[in-house]
Amino acid sequence: MKDVYISKAVIKRLPRYHRFLGELAKEGVERISSNDLAEMMNVTASQIRQDLNHFGGFGQQGYGYNVRYLHEEIGNLLGLNKEHKMVIIGAGNLARAITNYYGFKEIGFLIVALFDVNEELIGSEIKGIPVRPLSELSDFAKKEEIDLAILTVPKDAANAAAEEVVTAGIHYIWNFAPTELIVDRKKVYVENVHLVDSLLELTFEMTTRPIKESK
Ligand code: NAD
Repeated sequence: MKDVYISKAVIKRLPRYHRFLGELAKEGVERISSNDLAEMMNVTASQIRQDLNHFGGFGQQGYGYNVRYLHEEIGNLLGLNKEHKMVIIGAGNLARAITNYYGFKEIGFLIVALFDVNEELIGSEIKGIPVRPLSELSDFAKKEEIDLAILTVPKDAANAAAEEVVTAGIHYIWNFAPTELIVDRKKVYVENVHLVDSLLELTFEMTTRPIKESK
């Protein structure tokens, strides 16, 4: 699995497969064909088969997929079979919103500390989680075995903060700052999040394929 190239497009679809299969499992559905899953998910059956073939297929010709098994296996691929400890760098508005969202903990992503450079914030808590000085990040990350850093600092501070993260030995950054981070890609993997991109995908539809109400 380690050396197999998986395109970003396939990886992006895995959480959606996982979510749908989770719903089916909850409803007690035991098996599903790629055709039925495709119809539910509004994709083609061949896309599902191609996507899952990257990971060995998971299905038996003619029998469809075992829902629970596939849900679990995709969950394993997404790292959902264990807990992940995360820290947030930059304890401002966005950090507050992320910390208050219960959904991360539900799937095993635990925010264990926030870090900031603002003396007024250091020592305070967000949802019971302490805001610590950035200077403590390295020691804390090593002691607590932190897997992932969420970067929610202003754009101008992002590269310096990312450097602190790398120095702390954290190899994965979920970056919300609107800038490309200049980091050693051999040491750290960066996943950028841009809410505006998602909004613009919507307005592309709005502009190019407007919904016309039939009268
Ligand atoms: P904010 O000003 O409320 O919070 C930023 C925090 O970072 C502050 O507490 C500040 O003291 C701290 N900080 C500054 N330099 C730091 C450093 N070197 N190390 C640690 N902490 C530092 O801002 P916000 O509204 O929470 O936004 C945070 C970032 O997220 C901004 O870059 C913003 O543009 C971005 N953002 C991105 C999206 C997205 O979709 N990607 C959405 C909203 C905001």
